[in-house]
Amino acid sequence: MTSRNQHLFERAQRHIPGGVNSPVRAFRSVGGTPRFLVAGRGCRVEDADGKRYVDYVGSWGPLILGHADPQVIRAVQEAAIKGLSFGAPTESEIELAELLCEMLPSLDMVRLVSSGTEATMSAIRLARGWTGRDLLIKFEGCYHGHSDSLLVKAGSGLLTFGHPSSGGVPADLARHTLVLDYNDPEGLEAAFAEHGPKIAAVIVEPVAGNMNLIAPLPAFLQTMRQLCSTHGAVLIFDEVMTGFRVGPGGAQGLYGITPDLTTLGKVIGGGMPVGAFGGRREIMSYVAPLGPVYQAGTLSGNPVAVAAGLATLKQIRQPGFYDSLAGRTQQLIDGLLAAARANRLPFSAQSIGGMFGLYFRAHCPATFAEVMDADQSAFKRFFHAMLDAGHYFAPSAFEAGFVSSAHTESDIASTIADAEQVFTRWS
Ligand SMILES: *Cc1c(COP(=O)(O)O)cnc(C)c1O
Repeated sequence: MTSRNQHLFERAQRHIPGGVNSPVRAFRSVGGTPRFLVAGRGCRVEDADGKRYVDYVGSWGPLILGHADPQVIRAVQEAAIKGLSFGAPTESEIELAELLCEMLPSLDMVRLVSSGTEATMSAIRLARGWTGRDLLIKFEGCYHGHSDSLLVKAGSGLLTFGHPSSGGVPADLARHTLVLDYNDPEGLEAAFAEHGPKIAAVIVEPVAGNMNLIAPLPAFLQTMRQLCSTHGAVLIFDEVMTGFRVGPGGAQGLYGITPDLTTLGKVIGGGMPVGAFGGRREIMSYVAPLGPVYQAGTLSGNPVAVAAGLATLKQIRQPGFYDSLAGRTQQLIDGLLAAARANRLPFSAQSIGGMFGLYFRAHCPATFAEVMDADQSAFKRFFHAMLDAGHYFAPSAFEAGFVSSAHTESDIASTIADAEQVFTRWS
């Protein structure tokens, strides 16, 4: 029997680089043929061969309510009928901005864009414009989208391919980005001691989700906040992934740290292209047309995308949403840990809100080096065995996983039961 996935992949590669429109989708780090997905409903997706999977990717984070949530779909349909795009202001944009500022008290003002990459790129330009400084600090293994300043030893996709950074990024630009170790407050102190007056901004994933999942050490975020304040640098929390994924107030709410600027994406678009950057009024007032920092977008605040975002945010604000989401995610982690322990496999796992990390090593990693030290061939074996059994995990050992509110207790139990079998056959 010929696989339609295989056929489509061959066809795709003729006119699309690597057959994909974003590199991690190509399965390069796990091998095999990417699944071409044709439909999704709730926590399940179906591929071109008609095989169904319990999905733990969720479009890489946005689908916190699962696929084709009825309220989101209805909102999109109602918006689409009124027109797809105007390039003029609409009321729904105000509603989304108000909601974001209410959910994240660190936001006085917010600008909508169309992707996480645009959000981080714009936030960095703003930080540089506002401080009049050029130097940027980022952390190895954190991913902030694919703009030039940030592809300096960038995260997951590139890690997977083993490149330290991207081609096509001018060395002159990369020179303005300092790459430090995650969870290393001393490294941060040393960098500020040496370059303090030149540092425009520190950008960080407050929970790292692009080198698998790494939880921040409290001292790391606290030191960062304090150093930025002391030296007049802008602290940018890149919450494109963690925003409304780890809790109703993002990672900043969870850890009680107030950044100067925040970038958002993924969940705030509910599966449609929406990103945002926002923060302190005095900084946001530097954005055009109020201030000298230019930033624009033909489809920014697109009414159909904004409708999907609003319909998503309204549902996640319901009482108990995050307790239930975190509980389901923890159920998955506990089940996988027990299955691995029963078979004496070196395996660890953890979750924060609706995101999780699985590691083929004895203990959860706290650093990039520890993530790299996990057993990648074991991950590949796990990934393919689970995929065969109908469970779709991210096709890379350097990605976080996601549970949605559409995953039921029995969906998760079925994944755990199949993982038990996989681990039993393993040993
Ligand atoms: C996904 C992601 C981005 C990039 O967002 P895109 O919408 O893919 O451009 C930026 N930062 C973080 C933390 C992300 O997880």
